[in-house]
Amino acid sequence: MAFMAKALFPVTSELAINKRRLLRDLNAISRIGIGDHGSVTRLVFSIKELRSRQLLIHLMRQAGLKIHVDRIGNIFARWNGHNPKAPAVLAGSHLDTVVQGGKFDGPVGVIGALEALRTLKENKVPLRCPVEVVCFVGEESSRFGYSTLGSSLVAGEVQIEDLTHAVDAHGTKLEDILASMGIYRDNLASLTRDPSTIKAYLELHIEQGPILETKGKKIGLVTSIAAPTRFKAVFTGQADHSGTTPMEMRKDALVAAAKLITYIEEVCREFSAVEKGRIVGTVGAMKIEPGVMNAVPGKVELSIDIRSITAEAKDRVASQVKDRAAEIARARDIDVEILPIREELPVPLNEELLLLTKHICDQNGIAYEVMPSGAGHDAMQMAKITRAAMIFVPSKRGISHNPSEWTEPEDICLGSQVLLETMIRLANDEG
Ligand SMILES: [Zn+2]
Repeated sequence: MAFMAKALFPVTSELAINKRRLLRDLNAISRIGIGDHGSVTRLVFSIKELRSRQLLIHLMRQAGLKIHVDRIGNIFARWNGHNPKAPAVLAGSHLDTVVQGGKFDGPVGVIGALEALRTLKENKVPLRCPVEVVCFVGEESSRFGYSTLGSSLVAGEVQIEDLTHAVDAHGTKLEDILASMGIYRDNLASLTRDPSTIKAYLELHIEQGPILETKGKKIGLVTSIAAPTRFKAVFTGQADHSGTTPMEMRKDALVAAAKLITYIEEVCREFSAVEKGRIVGTVGAMKIEPGVMNAVPGKVELSIDIRSITAEAKDRVASQVKDRAAEIARARDIDVEILPIREELPVPLNEELLLLTKHICDQNGIAYEVMPSGAGHDAMQMAKITRAAMIFVPSKRGISHNPSEWTEPEDICLGSQVLLETMIRLANDEG
């Protein structure tokens, strides 16, 4: 009987994904929002981002999948196995990008999963449980400083207070956009998905770092995801005339902010030297008021992002940075306010799934690396409600969030193939 069961529900496949179709669809998505030097900009809830989701729905419809779009715009496309009521194996990623980003961060995981699912469906591979492709809305934090929005809602991980400071560069509040979709503080929970309907979540993604290329490996298997602590430091001094205000009488907020920026670099470097590269800190955005050449800066807002794969290291550095901000302000007789944006714990991914993906690579003679992820992903939210795994493919020179972002087409196809194998085994294991 065991043999029969295996024959009916295969756990390995002789199938190959359709590489040409995968690359064609990836290319079609990357044309939406294309700009100078091949950069791609699809900020969450922009027209371009919406168009990319519409194209995806079109592709899913062509494939004959059952589509569900939730209230915020997360897309789920499903192919039912022999038991439509069983928990589903989900695979996906996101289509939104940073400003002037690349073609592959996100779409590789969405289109790679779609291709795997199309291959399963076309070949009528018998599956014990349903499989789904998912496209999460708003994974990138570029617009609102809030990352993994769609997956956080699905996982029930959005804290109401997190939304308070989520405002874009034009002053548009994330909360107002959500309200326009009928999503309010008191019904956020309506977007969560019942964990008992999910068997596992898989995410194929570009590495966004240089390790796979440097080591000559084709696939990265992720152990855990470093999570960011994000906050703003707002220094308020006094805006004065740059010609008439003597140096000793100034309350220059930008000089204070500059001191904090260099401190963040110093403390992260020091910490990393002792803790073996486990912490990174970045000031990636700054607002200066009045921001004109002939005025002493009166107010400066720094956006600070600190990450590590250990919560303890991250907390220690974050509190040192906050203490130093207060010291700098005191010494210069100006004010500083710390505004929390988001605080997250590093997330370990599922060990069983890691073993499974290792096994698949071993069986197929694929050179792989077991590694942590320094970047955040939707998988870190999904890991809170189901077993989650990530498969990385190499990024040329480690470049990402940049038009030069590149992954070899062959590597993308290999990643999608590994994803397909993983989906079959998970869908057909008896657990
Ligand atoms: Zn991404």
